[in-house]
Amino acid sequence: MRGLDADIAVVGAGIAGASAALGLARAGWRVALVDAREPEPWSPRQAPDLRVYALAQASAELFTQLGVWPELLRRGLHPYRRMRVWDAAGGGELGFDAADIARPELGWIAPQAPVQDALWEALAREPRVQRHCPERIEELESGADEVRLELGSGRRLRVRLLVAADGALSPTRERLGIASATHDYGQRAVVAYVGHAEAHADTCWQRFLPGGPLAFLPCADGRSSIVWTLPQAEAERVQALDDEAFLRDLERAFDVRLGALTSVSPRASFPLVRRIAERFVQGRIALLGDAARNVHPLAGQGLNLGLADVRVLLDALGEAMPARDPGAPAPLARYARSRRSDSSIAALAFEQINRLFSNDHPLPLLLRGPALGLVDRLVPLRRFFAAHAAGWR
Ligand SMILES: Cc1cc2nc3c(=O)[nH]c(=O)nc-3n(C[C@H](O)[C@H](O)[C@H](O)COP(=O)(O)OP(=O)(O)OC[C@H]3O[C@@H](n4cnc5c(N)ncnc54)[C@H](O)[C@@H]3O)c2cc1C
Repeated sequence: MRGLDADIAVVGAGIAGASAALGLARAGWRVALVDAREPEPWSPRQAPDLRVYALAQASAELFTQLGVWPELLRRGLHPYRRMRVWDAAGGGELGFDAADIARPELGWIAPQAPVQDALWEALAREPRVQRHCPERIEELESGADEVRLELGSGRRLRVRLLVAADGALSPTRERLGIASATHDYGQRAVVAYVGHAEAHADTCWQRFLPGGPLAFLPCADGRSSIVWTLPQAEAERVQALDDEAFLRDLERAFDVRLGALTSVSPRASFPLVRRIAERFVQGRIALLGDAARNVHPLAGQGLNLGLADVRVLLDALGEAMPARDPGAPAPLARYARSRRSDSSIAALAFEQINRLFSNDHPLPLLLRGPALGLVDRLVPLRRFFAAHAAGWR
């Protein structure tokens, strides 16, 4: 079509949106990337970002395809080679090793800021990407053949597809009137870095407690990043503790698995809500990343699901390249079908696990220990779960 400003606009340049913009540009599409924030420069000397992700193998494969993986490794991603999961009340322990998926590592621990920075750098070198940051969409009109946008500066854009990757509270999703099935867990996730007397041994640890799971993720500097899920009131209580009292509470909650806890960074906490958008595609607009769904962090899969969206979208739009119409209905329908069903299954599975383990009712208690022990002893079942954690299924 004549007079288009770009083939695709991506709104939201978080890790999911930035990866989508990069992948789409590398596939030959002209991309306009819009974000409300300006890119923040990152330096290895700055205080580590409290937002830390466990990246699955499938996500690492996407970053390799996008050409940013060597940069990410240089920026201090740390491999994890083992996972240990155990239950405070029901007993039973489950372990996965990299050997279960025949790889040297199960995945990588990555703080948000260096990953975001590497993507921004790659985008700045990409001639097919025009960046509009900081900018917001003020007007949006979706027609049969194109999407028309007006940005805060008054700049107008005409594109054939809009990808909305503007986060959990997605203003674009709201503007389109796409409802989400929502469930408030009544929990908050408290995050921080902690030092410990014993080495983390490149292991992700997760203990299920009646109030919610507690995870320790191994970092490059020898500390662990914690995600401590607690009922709202309990989260507020531990957030108000001084560092010493916080560490002693955390040590007990973690069953002193890594010896005495020796230090804690500043802490932050996030409310936990499950949301799944009723539709992932509406006309020429596709939702991606947290704009499409939010899941419980207990399996560390939220961003991995967003990056799976990117992989499936790139694949689906490959079909649309000959006709140069990325907003054509058939590939978008394929994307929506595949990603909505995968997201619903994942979100509900994490919710059931949270419900089963985050309580001390006698019946679930009787099931939990034997269930974990059984999975641990049955090698094919363990491999099945390990492959899921790697994002390959
Ligand atoms: C405690 C906790 C632990 C987690 N741990 C893990 C983990 O181990 N592994 C994992 O895979 N996931 C994890 N997650 C999930 C993960 O944080 C999210 O899935 C991921 O950050 C979502 O990325 P995104 O790019 O979709 O959205 P965001 O990172 O929210 O990015 C949205 C972007 O949109 C922009 N934006 C917003 N509004 C506008 C607007 N009006 N106009 C223009 N731009 C706009 C924002 O500036 C931002 O850049 C965790 C989440 C929590 C809460």
